[in-house]
Amino acid sequence: MSQNKKVVVIGAGVAGLASAIRLKARGYEVHVFEASSQAGGKLNQLTLNGYRFDTGPSLFTMPQYVTELFELVGKDSKVNFPYLSLDVICKYWWDDGTELTMTNNNQTNAKSISAALGEKEANVLAYFKRSEQKYNLTGKTFLENSLHRLKTWLTKDVLKALMQLNQLDLLSTMHGLNAKYFKNIKTIQLFDRYATYNGSNPYKAPGMLQIIPHFEYGFGAHLPVRGMYQITESLYQLAVENGVTFHFNNKVDEIVTRNKTVKGIRVGDELISANLVISNMDAYFTYKHLLNREDKAQQITKQERSSSALIFYWGINKSFNELDLHNIFFSEDYKQEFELIAQGEISEDPTVYINITSKYVPGDAPVGCENWFVMINVPHNSGQNWDPMIQKAKQSIIKKINHVLKTDITNLIVCEEVLDPRSIESKTMSYTGSLYGTSSNSKFAAFARHANKSEEYEKLYFVGGSVHPGGGVPLCLLSAKIVDELINE
Ligand code: FAD
Repeated sequence: MSQNKKVVVIGAGVAGLASAIRLKARGYEVHVFEASSQAGGKLNQLTLNGYRFDTGPSLFTMPQYVTELFELVGKDSKVNFPYLSLDVICKYWWDDGTELTMTNNNQTNAKSISAALGEKEANVLAYFKRSEQKYNLTGKTFLENSLHRLKTWLTKDVLKALMQLNQLDLLSTMHGLNAKYFKNIKTIQLFDRYATYNGSNPYKAPGMLQIIPHFEYGFGAHLPVRGMYQITESLYQLAVENGVTFHFNNKVDEIVTRNKTVKGIRVGDELISANLVISNMDAYFTYKHLLNREDKAQQITKQERSSSALIFYWGINKSFNELDLHNIFFSEDYKQEFELIAQGEISEDPTVYINITSKYVPGDAPVGCENWFVMINVPHNSGQNWDPMIQKAKQSIIKKINHVLKTDITNLIVCEEVLDPRSIESKTMSYTGSLYGTSSNSKFAAFARHANKSEEYEKLYFVGGSVHPGGGVPLCLLSAKIVDELINE
């Protein structure tokens, strides 16, 4: 039945690629229109003076949502998409010299947290257990299904989740919940940080976000053998091999509708007919520019935006044995850091994240050197005077790294590129440069996030970070799975 049906996907971000692969596998004729010259959107790379950098996502969790796309078309994912599973998940440092290494073994983690931060091992293990229970109770049901169709709500799993609503800690904040488990402010900070995985504020976001650590400690942290950009490369290649047609440098200007039914798209003067349209672009911009529906776009702005990021890609002319792939240098006052972000500002003492793929990917930096992706959380773009803010932040970051590593990195930086909320917005057309669309700061955020199927326009679907189930590579891949099911059920 799907033969001869033509699908247009707008945007070749990770969710656009996954949607294209899924619908092609069902027998549709699939065309992807991408404004830029290449696939990937935020999941991209850059090379600079012999250094290679992944420009966006750096932490790879839930690899099964990538590998299942290969299996769907009968390809061996182990051959076509090899990845490493990390023993060391992340290294943490505090200004007073406290250090902690978190691994893929929760027994070891409990011991390390007990030794470094004085927590009871049993409390740490209970925390991980609760994180897993929350995931089991809600993960499959609410992340892998549309929340906007009756069928989802009429299952045994939902009934079970609803009967155990009190287990979900919807009424406490992430910070409040963590403070109940742990006595050391550093342990609380360690687990509060998971709220930032979807651009939220731990002092506002509900305790329900305790499921996020389970993504990392339950399913593990991973790295494609050639770095994160391999996800884009491999999915793009898979799509092409299976007959998806890509149209790069083709910015879609309009979704053409008649009687509230989608008829196709317009690129410049050219009209392209389609039976179905899937928008992988930001939902706000889809309404504002492609459907000319300012009213619908404004509805989206009622939800709080997720935070954005400031990233320095630094070629470092030295190797640091104490660092690993993922490294966090915590701020002294986490609460103030988030208060300032909420006010549109950047702390003078930000939490600094350093990602170094050259630790695992040979060739990502010259011998004896390292490719540092140095990121801090910053507010979304609301018209701030960014240039002086960025210069000041750079000095704060260098000061922090120098203090913790007891060195001076200033002269080790041999090349630099910067990504900020303005360039995130302009390069991937993400409204206000938010990394994850809307935030999860409210307990109703999951329900307020835009649906995967338009309620107003027939044959129009939405995937990607700005719609259900939210931002981040795994959830974007799930949005494609949901849309595939909605179209074909
Ligand atoms: P996007 O990547 O947003 O791409 C949308 C595509 O649509 C773009 O290619 C754009 O050019 C195209 N487009 C837009 N408008 C049009 C139009 N009119 N016509 C044609 N094409 C159009 N996630 C993680 O899981 N782990 C991480 O560690 C992580 N870290 C991150 C760090 C940074 C710095 C950033 C920026 C993001 C990070 N994320 C992370 C989030 C993750 O990158 C995103 O959630 C995900 O990649 C978004 O994918 P998407 O499918 O929504 O599409």
